[in-house]
Order: sequence, then C-alpha cells, then structure tokens
Amino acid sequence: MSARLIDGKAIAGEIREEIRRGTRELAERGVTPGLAVVLVGDDPASQIYVRNKARACEELGFYSEVHRLPKETPQDELLELISRLNAKSEVHGILVQSPLPDHIREKAVIDAIAVHKDVDGFHPVNVGNLVIGDDALLSCTPAGIIEMLKRSGIPIAGRHAVVIGRSNIVGKPAAMLLLREHATVTVCHSKTADLPDVVRQADIVVAAVGRPKLVKADWIKPGAAVIDVGINRLPDGKLCGDVDFEAVREVAGWITPVPGGVGPMTITMLMANTLKAARRAAGLA
Ligand code: NDP
Repeated sequence: MSARLIDGKAIAGEIREEIRRGTRELAERGVTPGLAVVLVGDDPASQIYVRNKARACEELGFYSEVHRLPKETPQDELLELISRLNAKSEVHGILVQSPLPDHIREKAVIDAIAVHKDVDGFHPVNVGNLVIGDDALLSCTPAGIIEMLKRSGIPIAGRHAVVIGRSNIVGKPAAMLLLREHATVTVCHSKTADLPDVVRQADIVVAAVGRPKLVKADWIKPGAAVIDVGINRLPDGKLCGDVDFEAVREVAGWITPVPGGVGPMTITMLMANTLKAARRAAGLA
C-alpha cells in the first residue's frame, strides 16, 4: 500500500490563515508584525530565499525591510546594522541569510541578534530554552516538522523517532522538539554504525542529511512516517530529497514529498515566529 502524502503546502496554507487572523488581532492594537532580512553578498539561491521571505511578509500584511550589503562588508558594519535593527520598534524579527562570506563569523552574528527578535531560533538562549523546555523562538524547519506530524494526526508520544543529521539548524533542534513531544529519540550522523539497522527501528524518520536518495525502502519499518528535509539538486537540474521517494512510499505509512513537503513549512514557521515576537512585544501571551 502506498503511503499517505503529507502535503506541506496545504498545511503551510492552514497555518498562514491562522497567522492572518493573529495579524488582524494585532492590527486592532495598532501593531504590524515586522521582519528585517539581511543579505550579505550576491549568492543566487540566497537572493531567491530573501525575495520569497519579503513576498511572504507582503502576503500576510507584515512590515518588512530587506538590507542588501556587498559581500566585502566588514563584520563590524554588519553588527552595527543588527544593533540598529535590535533597537528599531517596527522590527520584531531579524534574519541574517546564510551562508555568510568567509570573513564574517556566523557565531558573532547570531549572538548579536536580540534574543526576542531571533526568529530563526539560532541564538544560544533560544536553543537553551528549547532544551530546558521553556518558551523559546524555535528553529523554523524543526518547528515545521512537528506541525506537519501533529496536523497529520501522526502520534509522537511514546514512538521511536530516528533523526538522521545533527546540524544546529535542523538535526539537533528536531531531536529536542521530538523529545519534548515525548518521543524516544535517536540521533544519527556520518559516524553512526549500521545506519540502516537503526532507521529500521523508527516509527518516525527525519532525514536531514543533504545526500540524494540516501534513505532506502528496506531501511523503513512498514507504516513509519518519513519526513524528508533534504534539498538536493540532481545533475538534470531536478530537486530531490534525502529519501528514495518512489520506493519508500510503497513501505511507509506517511511521507513528505520534495519539493512541496518540509520546504513550504520552513518559511511559514518564520512568519509564525515573527508574529509571536510581535505579540510578545505588544504584551500578549
Ligand atoms: P549539514 O550539512 O549541516 O548536516 C548534515 C548532517 O548529516 C550532519 O550531521 C552529517 O553528519 C550528517 N551526514 C552526512 N552524511 C551522512 C551519512 N552518509 N549518513 C548519516 N549522516 C550523514 O546540513 P543541514 O542540516 O543544514 O541540512 C540538511 C539537508 O536539509 C540539506 O539538504 C539542506 O539543503 C536541507 N535543508 C532543508 C530545509 C528546508 O526548509 N526544507 C532547511 C534547512 C536545510 P556529521 O555531523 O557527522 O558530519
């Protein structure tokens, strides 16, 4: 039997409706959620991401500003801009698009963003609050994964979740969020022994690796939920995930496609974080 498709676009659309409602509620108090996006350099993919974020703001009635800086911008200048944005009341969320040029230390940039405006959820205080279970701005892709599971009616509590990948932006926060939802969590990486055997034990598989079609059908427990975070460009120009989609869908119970799965959720969760930051700034829970 073929797996049920988890339609990221449809779920993202549902959440965007909720964000619109929240935005209208804030408007009654004279507040418009605001997002500042900073792009350093001219990486073509980053330019597309930044444009999409500005477009999402427009669609949802957010205020947005985009700062495009030349790639040779000194780190101090970038930090000064962040400091101005930290102080600006119209801006509730700040996002500095990665990758950054080599001469800029990513950690210095993340640390410089005010914790309450860190809508990427990368600041150590937000990461720490996630780990200890306090309220935090959550990293967007992992937050999107949890929303997809919940809104698809996939049980998490008591299930074994295997996360492949341990990056700070996807793997680790996804594992922490699954743990917070009471899954039993295993985190795998490039040194994991017998990866297929570990994945075979999973009720929920999250693949965040960046290797096309790494996860095979015979790694999957029949009926498992498979969340494919990977975005890989094949030589023919097509996009594919980390999961061998056509084969795995015959075994899994649920599966996310690439594109149209996790991708649309990430930007939507960024908007949800910006709304949350704006609500907090307005003194709402
Ligand atoms: P990173 O390169 O930072 O991390 C990749 C992880 O995969 C590392 O932990 C690495 O292990 C592990 N890994 C690499 N090879 C193997 C292997 N053969 N077996 C098991 N584990 C392996 O990537 P990101 O986390 O940033 O991104 C992962 C993928 O998700 C990429 O394709 C990226 O484009 C995509 N992505 C998609 C998003 C979306 O919105 N859909 C958002 C963010 C990312 P180790 O730590 O040992 O090196």
